[in-house]
Amino acid sequence: MDRLKISARLMIVSDLDHTMVDHHDSENLSLLRFNSLWESNYRHDSLLVFSTGRSPTLYKQLRKEKPMLTPDITIMSVGTEITYGNSMVPDDGWVEVLNQKWDRNIVIEESSKFPELTLQSETELRAHKISFYVQKDKAQAVMKALLECLEKRGLDVKIIYSGGMDLDILPQGAGKGQALAYLLQKFKTEGKLPKHTLVCGDSGNDAELFSIPEVYGVMVSNAQEELLQWHAQHAKNNPKIIHATERCAAGIIQAIGHFSLGQNTPPRDVMDFLECKLENVNPGHEVVKLYLFYERWRRAEVENSEPYLASLKAACVKRRATFFRAFRFFFCEERDRERFWAIAGFGTAVICEHIV
Ligand SMILES: [Mg+2]
Repeated sequence: MDRLKISARLMIVSDLDHTMVDHHDSENLSLLRFNSLWESNYRHDSLLVFSTGRSPTLYKQLRKEKPMLTPDITIMSVGTEITYGNSMVPDDGWVEVLNQKWDRNIVIEESSKFPELTLQSETELRAHKISFYVQKDKAQAVMKALLECLEKRGLDVKIIYSGGMDLDILPQGAGKGQALAYLLQKFKTEGKLPKHTLVCGDSGNDAELFSIPEVYGVMVSNAQEELLQWHAQHAKNNPKIIHATERCAAGIIQAIGHFSLGQNTPPRDVMDFLECKLENVNPGHEVVKLYLFYERWRRAEVENSEPYLASLKAACVKRRATFFRAFRFFFCEERDRERFWAIAGFGTAVICEHIV
């Protein structure tokens, strides 16, 4: 993928549930606002990384439920699986790192001695992550005792409690933070370290992300007590970490502005389609504008479309080749094809009637 071959202008590493995705927002407005901002201003030279506790099975399920972008890199199962691109090519080097002092059979055998632990579903038991449910008041004691048992058996593991119910056992070298550290080291070795990295999270298993030196961090406004407590104890005086006043993806947009990491006005917030000055035509922005125009046009919310169509025509004539390249680029990924074809009919009509 071309974007992985250059030093990214901005790399956003975001948790999904209750961070990028707001499960209390049935219209997905903040997610759609972030998507339009990313597609129009960042996609071409920046990297989007999703870092989730979800296994590949549950991650794919979420993608069917919510209008999520296709990330450049996906870190799943609490930092134990790293994959690249839409086809999700695994990082074999990371698998080797995780195999050190790890034996999942021993983990399952020892944990079965704790009746407080309830094994999660089969899809959540991964090569380097074994997950349980445990009640909040029992968690600390179980974690301490279990850790001792596993150490006696020669393993070097990490136990993470998250969301007030999930207990994950991972190799010591795993976790969201370690996976990010591995990626940053890999980029550094290849001479393409991102210029800025922004990590985003809401719960306990995100704390590690905020421990990585040099990164900016945003705890979304709805962050859980466990993350806020960690912050109060370990990173209170770090000016590069903020607790946003906005929920979920809106908090991420807020952080981009707070740290001056780039443009942070989503095109979705701009009601005037003609706002972009012609001399500063940004092809990505124009494609997103066309898509947003189409959305509103379908809902019969556009009273007078002529000025916008004239502006689109002028933009295309001025930067014709770039515009069409961008149009293909933004919608070429497998997952976005449906969206591409949804607008293609209208786009073709516009192009045929007004431009070509
Ligand atoms: Mg979360």
